[in-house]
Amino acid sequence: MFRAPEMTRTDTHCPYCALQCGMALELLPDGISVRPNDFPTNRGGLCVKGWTAAALLDSPHRLTTPLVRTAGGLRPATWGAALDLVAGRLLGIRAEHGPDANAVFGGGGLTNEKAYLLGKFARVALGTSQVDYNGRFCMSSAAVAATRAFGLDRGLPFPVSDVDEADAVLLVGANPAETMPPFLSHLRGVADRGGLVVVDPRRTATAEQAAVHLAPAPGTDLALALGILHAVVAGGHLDRDYVTARTTGFEAAWRIAASWWPERVERVTGVPAASQRQVAGILARARNAYILTARGTEQHASGVRAVGAWINLALALGLPGVTGSGWGCLTGQGNGQGGREHGQKADQLPGYRRIDDPAARRHVAAVWGVPADSLPGAGRSAYELLSALGTPDGPRGLLVFGSNPAVSAPHAGRVVERLAALDLLVVADVVLSETARMADVVLPVTQWAEENGTLTNLEGRILLRAKAVEPPDGVRTDLDVLHGLAVRLGQPAERFPSDPEAVFTELRAASRGGPADYSGVTYARLRAGAALHWPVPSVRHPGTPRLFLDSFAHQDGRARFVPVDHSGPAEPPDAEFPLYATTGRIVAHYQSGAQTRLVAELCAAAGEMFVEVHPDTARRAGLTDGAAAIVESRRGSTRARVRCVSTTRPDVVFLPFHFSGDERANLLTNPALDPFSRMPEFKVCAVRIREAPCDGS
Ligand code: SF4
Repeated sequence: MFRAPEMTRTDTHCPYCALQCGMALELLPDGISVRPNDFPTNRGGLCVKGWTAAALLDSPHRLTTPLVRTAGGLRPATWGAALDLVAGRLLGIRAEHGPDANAVFGGGGLTNEKAYLLGKFARVALGTSQVDYNGRFCMSSAAVAATRAFGLDRGLPFPVSDVDEADAVLLVGANPAETMPPFLSHLRGVADRGGLVVVDPRRTATAEQAAVHLAPAPGTDLALALGILHAVVAGGHLDRDYVTARTTGFEAAWRIAASWWPERVERVTGVPAASQRQVAGILARARNAYILTARGTEQHASGVRAVGAWINLALALGLPGVTGSGWGCLTGQGNGQGGREHGQKADQLPGYRRIDDPAARRHVAAVWGVPADSLPGAGRSAYELLSALGTPDGPRGLLVFGSNPAVSAPHAGRVVERLAALDLLVVADVVLSETARMADVVLPVTQWAEENGTLTNLEGRILLRAKAVEPPDGVRTDLDVLHGLAVRLGQPAERFPSDPEAVFTELRAASRGGPADYSGVTYARLRAGAALHWPVPSVRHPGTPRLFLDSFAHQDGRARFVPVDHSGPAEPPDAEFPLYATTGRIVAHYQSGAQTRLVAELCAAAGEMFVEVHPDTARRAGLTDGAAAIVESRRGSTRARVRCVSTTRPDVVFLPFHFSGDERANLLTNPALDPFSRMPEFKVCAVRIREAPCDGS
């Protein structure tokens, strides 16, 4: 247990989701306590994960020494020996198989500094194109759709608090009552005014608060968006002045939507035509309206098109780029926004630059002090990378930072098989995650409150998450690890600084002039409490809380309607697997659960995998509430306790994805990828359910 001689207090932010709730850590003589801060995103609220976050800091499961695999399993080693071993193996793999035989996998929870240095490490120290991260599994479809429509992707192009004044909010595939409860304070006004509409196949705790809940069959949101757009236009609600002045492409998008009249959409989605028209009316009558999308509509093989359909609806109503209205994506991971801007993505360089842009390559290479033509091109996306590990053409060595793909990747059985086929697996983590347990070398690293670093929250605001406690003896920061490895790989020490502020100073230069320009952000400004939303192109610039008010980021300043049509899920139910499975988060856990499953209060609240089933569906399968069940898809099976929920659709089962071993929801999920974002179809696959035999097989 941590002890401080006297009370000290540090203002910082939560280690988990993209709301990045403000909190203070108080170091008391008898331990650490969490106090919520009155920060604009959480306004004094925290969810149970935030309240219990201090438990991570003195977890008995904490790793404090490097581990190296021997014939007897993972054994303690010195840092020098572990880093020498890793560097030697990486050099050997590169010498034998070429630079792309080494790969790097990052995470959307890493600070901006870590994400930046990780991308640089991959391209410069390893010379590999094979770098991607788990954010590909979260926000990538919304990012591509926003870039296509607006020329720029920033999850929320407005501050969260703008939503407070809305008369209507259409929330698509989001359940903030479980995923980020303090966000509900921003929806309270619209809910009280009867303007909250929730689109979700499940009647979630968020849907309970809505004036209208639309429950489409999984994988049919795109058709629903087309139906509501149809109702808007047919009802005479198209904002023609806005469409003419600020957009292009409406006619092509409308040619498709024109054939999706609400009664046809009802047959595909199950959402009554009258409800579609009702929602069109709610949105059209509102003075201030927002359409907010999240993973429920994004994590599909058609995710980019689905988000594009919701953006088309927003454009038809004249919402984006208008004060008090808009479209936005509710980013999930703690640094899901900043993590997708600074170069850990396969096709990207810092500042949200494209790696195939010659000018971007020249700019970043100059900051890094290397020739532009030495930088590799785009590599494989996350699932493609994981799926290629250990194959004849795929990487043979993998470094994992801030991610646990053995639990969080789709078709997890296949991913574990590929991880096991590697010549070298190195995992830097705080605890022995499921992926770390498979590693050849495990490197124990610091966590949130033990280090300084910046994150960018869901509204594009850059935050300094301040160090509040000293790390345990024996651990190093991820930046230290990258520095130590880079030097051993022959890089000049000064090219890989390990001080977070020094790395951030370099990131500012690398991002200068890019779409996500952080050049005017300094630690000093952040420490002084400046609310800086990117772009911030100079140190005197006040930041840009609201984007697109004058023009969109395309060269002609106009937003684009993108024509999109419905195609349905990649794997619809059939006679063999007759149910839709959909996956998601619950309030007590976060992502793969590697952290939250270590917190006793959270495990007491939700310690076991469950499957939500309609009582009629359960009865047909011979199951009762509380029974042990096996849920099977074409890729694998998982064990779960049955929860009968009469408000769920009879054709849908829901599984949380935080649990491990044979309780992993991702043993079932379909890795079918969106052709544009390479996002896997986490949100729908075909399954069947049966009673678990007593012997556990
Ligand atoms: Fe806030 Fe998210 Fe942390 Fe909960 S998990 S306290 S919603 S930042």
